[in-house]
Amino acid sequence: MQSMDDPAAENPVLDLLEGTSCAFCDGGTLVRGTYHGNAAVICDDCHTPGAQLW
Ligand SMILES: [Zn+2]
Repeated sequence: MQSMDDPAAENPVLDLLEGTSCAFCDGGTLVRGTYHGNAAVICDDCHTPGAQLW
């Protein structure tokens, strides 16, 4: 069965980073989102992107 998942929905880098602690502030957690229209993980506290895909 073929799936038509959004490419951003299965990205190993984002999977690894999602839920990890932010490196830029205390207490922030990286959550999946978009940054400048690209799939990324972004801190839910300071909104610093932890990673993005170009
Ligand atoms: Zn942060």
